[in-house]
Formats: sequence, C-alpha cells, structure tokens
Amino acid sequence: MNRPGHIGLALLFLSPFITKFELNNVLIAVALTVSPDIDLLLRIEHRKYTHNITFAILISIIVFMFLKNFWLSFLVFLSILIHILSDLLTIQKFAPLYPFSKKKYALKLFKSNNTAINTAVILLGIASFAYFSNLDFSELFRYLAKLI
Ligand SMILES: [Zn+2]
Repeated sequence: MNRPGHIGLALLFLSPFITKFELNNVLIAVALTVSPDIDLLLRIEHRKYTHNITFAILISIIVFMFLKNFWLSFLVFLSILIHILSDLLTIQKFAPLYPFSKKKYALKLFKSNNTAINTAVILLGIASFAYFSNLDFSELFRYLAKLI
C-alpha cells in the first residue's frame, strides 16, 4: 500500500479505540503506521528489516520508554502490525517473522500502488475516524490534514 492507504487502514481499525484510549494516543499510533517504510528513506533493503514483528515490538518499546504509556505503545504495535499485514496482501514477498523465520510471504492480491484500493481504504479510514472521533467538520479536517 502507499502512504495514504496505510494511514487509511490504521484509521479504519484504530479509530474505534478513540473512546477508550483518547484521540491523541490513537493519532500518534496512526502516524506511526508508516514507520516501516522508513527503509525507503534509509535506502536499505525494502521490506526486510522494518516489515516484521520484531520491528513492531521494537518501536512499541521505544514509544513506551519515552512516553511511559502502555496503551499507546500497544496501539503503536497494532498500527505497525496493520501496515505489515496490509503489505502482505501485495505483490512483493517479505518475511514478517524476520529474523526468527526468513520465509517470505505475499498474497499477491494487488499492487501496493493500486489507486482504487488505496483510495477506498483512505475514504473508509476517514469515515471511521469521523464516526468515532465525533469531531466537527473543521476540527476533523485539521487533524486529517496533519496526517495525510
Ligand atoms: Zn510497507
């Protein structure tokens, strides 16, 4: 998936947690859903070191060390897991259990830059966020403009 697709999917699945774990915690977790794609910025092998359960746990621990909020670090873990699971639906194989297992998987259902799917997912994510955040339209737009 591309960046808006990942954010949309995280919004879709994490927005229901807003009522329980506060809006800001959910938004931090949603923003960190794109963290596995830092490999593109760092120019290291794509989907090798950052697209696995170990990376999700590591980032969650780092978030916990800095912010001392267990539920936030749990949401960050879920958010990164959502990224990894959604990338598994695409063409490029990778090892989600690296370094414990180097077996690579890909369901090859669509290309990661599929416009229809990424657009549908971001729209669903925005709908989920609008519903669960209960923000008025201008506030909603302000938050979404920061994220997307
Ligand atoms: Zn990715």
